[in-house]
This record gives sequence, C-alpha cells and structure tokens, in this order.
Amino acid sequence: MQTAANLMPIPGHIDPVPVPRSFVPRSDGRIDLLGLSLADLRMALETSQLEEKQAKLRAKQLWHWIYNRGATEFSAMTDISKTMHPWLEQRFVISRPNVIEAQVSTDGTRKWLLRSDDAQDYEMVFIPDADRGTLCVSSQVGCTLNCTFCHTGTMRLVRNLTPAEIVGQVMLARDSLGEWPSQPEGRMLTNIVMMGMGEPLYNFENVRDALKLVMDGAGLALSRRRITLSTSGVVPMMARAGAEIGVNLAVSLHAVTKEVRDEIVPLNRKYGIEELLQACADYPGTNNARRITFEYVMLKDKNDSDDDARELVRLLRKYELPAKVNLIPFNPWPGATYECSTPERIKSFSSIVFGAGISAPVRTPRGRDIDAACGQLKTASEKKSRAQIDREAAAEADTAFV
Ligand code: SF4
Repeated sequence: MQTAANLMPIPGHIDPVPVPRSFVPRSDGRIDLLGLSLADLRMALETSQLEEKQAKLRAKQLWHWIYNRGATEFSAMTDISKTMHPWLEQRFVISRPNVIEAQVSTDGTRKWLLRSDDAQDYEMVFIPDADRGTLCVSSQVGCTLNCTFCHTGTMRLVRNLTPAEIVGQVMLARDSLGEWPSQPEGRMLTNIVMMGMGEPLYNFENVRDALKLVMDGAGLALSRRRITLSTSGVVPMMARAGAEIGVNLAVSLHAVTKEVRDEIVPLNRKYGIEELLQACADYPGTNNARRITFEYVMLKDKNDSDDDARELVRLLRKYELPAKVNLIPFNPWPGATYECSTPERIKSFSSIVFGAGISAPVRTPRGRDIDAACGQLKTASEKKSRAQIDREAAAEADTAFV
C-alpha cells in the first residue's frame, strides 16, 4: 500500500545505480569455464567430483588451452586424454559471445553487436592503426549515468556483464584476428580500453576479474600499461581500481565548471570536479611516462571557450596532474541536443592547452559511418529516444502509485 513516507522524495543526491538484473545461468545447466581464474577452474572440477590432484593438473591444462591457445572445444585439447573429453563436454562449456552483427567502417574500424545467452545485447569496437590495434570493451548492458552527449546513456541499465562476457570480447577479437596461440610480439590487438558501454567502476569486481585474466602473462598476456580504464568519476572506487587492477586511468571530464559538468555528466552532482581531480592525484603509479588521460568532448557553445581551456589548465596544474587531454569532436546521433564545436574553436582550445605544456591532441573520429565512434554505442535492439524513455519512466512512476 502507498504511504506518505514512501512518496516523499529522498533528499540529497541519489546514487544512480539501480540494482541491475542478475545474471541468468545457462539453460543446459553446464558451467562456462570462460572467465574463471585458475583457482575457480580447479574448484569447478573438484565440485564435479574430480579427485583433488587430478583437478589441479586438469585445471592448469584447461586454463592454458582456454587463454593461451583460444580453444573452445575440449576435443582439441590433445594433452587431455580422449576418454575425458565427453566427461568435460557434459559438464562444461567454453563460451564466446554470440555475434549478431559485424560491421566494418570505411576507415577499417570494426564493430560487433553481441548477444549473451539470456538475450542481452552489447557491443565492442576494434580500432586498427598503423602501429597498434585497440579494442574498446563494454562493461555493462546499457548505462545508468545518462551523460547527455552519449548515445549509450539513453539506454537503461539492463545488467552488469560477467567476467566471461568481458574477457569474451577480447577472446572473440583474437579469434577474428587469428591471433592464437597468444604471441608476445606482432599482434594486431595491442591495446584495450574499457570505454565501451557502461561505467566500469559500477561493475568493479567483474571488470577486475576479467582484466586480471587479460593481463596474466601465461594467457592473453596484455601488459597493464596497454590497458586503460575509463571512468566518469566514480570517486570512491578509484583508489581500489588503482590498488587492485593498476591499469592506466582515463577520466571523462568534459567540462571545467560545476554548472556545465552537472548538466553533461550528471554524476558530477554527486562527485564534483575538485573531488575527482584529487582522486586522480592520489591514483597510484602515475608519472610523466604514465599520464592520466582526460577525455573532453567538444560541444559547441557549451564547454569549448578559451576561458574553459584556461580553466582546464589551471585545474590540472593545481592538482599537479601528469595529464594528457584528448579532445573529442562530438559525434552526433539521432535526437542529440548538441552540436560539435567548429574546427577553428577546437584548434584554439587545443593550442591554449598545448601552450601550457600539456598534450591536447584532437582525436580523429573513427567508425562514424557505423555508429562505432565515441559516445555512439547503442545496441540496435534499443532504438528509443531519450524523450521516449523519459515519457515511459514517468508513466511507470505514475502507474506504480495506482
Ligand atoms: S559516457 Fe560512459 S558513463 Fe556516460 S552515459 Fe555514456 S557510457 Fe555511460
């Protein structure tokens, strides 16, 4: 029954994380070995009644086949006896995300629309360059943060991705690039950015566990220096990210005044700019060789004035941050209320920051023609406009009180 007490608005800022829908286990009852650490893999075998010593040996072999060789079939595992293959097949599976659609941009950028076994859609993007290849990985289906310039922000959060679904994106990219067995040199996939759908620090444990697998030298073996985690500024989790994951940090700053950042990155109402920059200053392991990247989307007449550029420099200096600023021309999407700054404006902004001795390159938009560019990710199955979503949310709130 509705009471006056539960109709009352909650004072102060509300943490924008609803409880995401929990993960649904596989309908065939088999356990997915992808995403498990060596210890968990061993535990899974022991739980299936494999004797302790056997479980230890088999776990090591399986782990090597999964993360070093990219195997998805037990029958390919030549050092595990043939008689054991059916036993493994009955109980376990080594998954990959299902590919619903794969697109290639005119500039070589590739985007995959992926679907989980419980029919959740998410995306990953591979951006090849002359000397490197970067995979942009999603951490959640949808996002709660509603950054107003971002298409993903118009999706509701459906659920957090599991470690298997996060590391699965890297595995799938390696499959598609033909990069098995894992080689230390000559790879196309050299870098990972946790900048796809979702806020990684709102799915901390799963992101951490997945990245630990990605960084393990005996498996996928990507160095922590080649992995970047991007946050919109979940301040309380940043120290933990530094201590427990230790990858490079990128921060979606996008504005230098409270008024503008409150509007375009609403999380700012909870964790303000100064608090965020202090957390950056405290992030372990940063120095001039390992700088923090500040992402700054260029929005016409919103955050792109010379005064904004000067304020950015002042703030970065105040906190003595080893910083690099990435200026991102706004990528339009249907229904967006912003326009991209003019090239002259971006140039002027960039030269002020450069003039202060801080690197501020303008990022070339990649994959625009397939909606794979920054802030454009949104699954094809979710085509609602922000206005439509707002209307539906209002209608839901109304009916909740009937
Ligand atoms: S920019 Fe990132 S945090 Fe903000 S709404 Fe988009 S996906 Fe979420």
